[in-house]
Amino acid sequence: MYTLNTEHLPKSGESLADYVRRIRTGLALSQKEVADRANLHLQSLGKIERGQTTRLNQKTRVALSGALEISPEYLDAAVRGTPLVASTALKYCPNCWVAGSLPEPIWLDVRSRFCFLCSEALRNRCIACNEPVISLKFRFCPHCGTAYKTIRHNAREYSA
Ligand SMILES: [Zn+2]
Ligand SMILES: [Zn+2]
Repeated sequence: MYTLNTEHLPKSGESLADYVRRIRTGLALSQKEVADRANLHLQSLGKIERGQTTRLNQKTRVALSGALEISPEYLDAAVRGTPLVASTALKYCPNCWVAGSLPEPIWLDVRSRFCFLCSEALRNRCIACNEPVISLKFRFCPHCGTAYKTIRHNAREYSA
């Protein structure tokens, strides 16, 4: 279940190595399990956790963030060594997101503005009350009760 938890954000001054290890151990996963999830070589993950790799290519950052159940932005923040503001991080596609599931890691990328599957504009706020989305654990906005997901109607039902 995906929740935006500040424990998952890199701490001020935390290195990429320390951050990745902390998140991995927080999930109770071995290096091998994370490497398998991310389709990375165990050695590559080992180098990241030993601080020998301090920059990530696009493929690795997306795969590793998926394996660690965090946003790729968090890894970027750890690479840069700058803390991230929690309220900007969570985004989802109102068409493709399945309630209660993990958002696609690519939606959470700071550069993603549109869904890669359906081209819908991604949302990080409730469309009704404009409160930031802080958890996708629930289907509805906790402030006003509006459904986060767009309910699709079949146009033909109405034209008959
Ligand atoms: Zn979509
Ligand atoms: Zn709302």
